Amino acid sequence: MTQRYFKAEGLVLRTRILGEADRVVTLLTWEEGKLEAVARGARKTKSKLAAGVDIFSYGRFTLYRGKTWPVITGQDSIEHFPWFRENPEKYHYGLYMAELIDRLVSGEEPCTEICRLLLDGWRLLGEDTDRAMLCRAFELKLAAAAGYYPHLHSCANCGSETTEVFSPRQGGLLCCRCQGAEVIKVDPGTVALARRLIEAPLSQTGLIHPSARQREELARLTAAFLAYHLDLGEIKSRRLLSE
Ligand SMILES: [Zn+2]
Repeated sequence: MTQRYFKAEGLVLRTRILGEADRVVTLLTWEEGKLEAVARGARKTKSKLAAGVDIFSYGRFTLYRGKTWPVITGQDSIEHFPWFRENPEKYHYGLYMAELIDRLVSGEEPCTEICRLLLDGWRLLGEDTDRAMLCRAFELKLAAAAGYYPHLHSCANCGSETTEVFSPRQGGLLCCRCQGAEVIKVDPGTVALARRLIEAPLSQTGLIHPSARQREELARLTAAFLAYHLDLGEIKSRRLLSE
């Protein structure tokens, strides 16, 4: 029998208004994956729940399985990310990370790796870091966590170690014999950069100092790779990022 009350620890990805006083909150939780829940009265100024169900909240939620949506009955805050209130640029990056995950994760199944990635990403945005590189590392790691690992060691088609271009459709590098249409020219330095961003912990992205050309190529490569494989549609907050 399913328990009617349950607890879940998670991060608020998004909220939207529901009727006069309520909010629908999209949570990414360690235990239950992504879920939508109603916070009754959360739009009222006296609501105890209001602050705890805002975007960028991280807390322990008590929920009740209602007829349609789970209902949030309580929240204990675990961690705050004050920089999102203080700095519009950080806010937009944090929002972009949340929106990407909201689009990518669909079901209610545990997604520990993605929870960890978002928590690390939001924490690192509080530091004085290279936000564009942090974002690229986040995108590549998120794609890998969703099962899309770009093929960056040899030609994705024939295995040749001399590669020329990146093909979003083939999901990796191609050599001069295998390359077809719609490929992106990439410098070996950019390939090494992408590999390092996927393999190194997110916290180490600030130690990498790529050239302007590598940054530009990497941005094109990741955007095309994500657009092709992850079917994300338009990510509204992407426009707001300063690259
Ligand atoms: Zn080839």
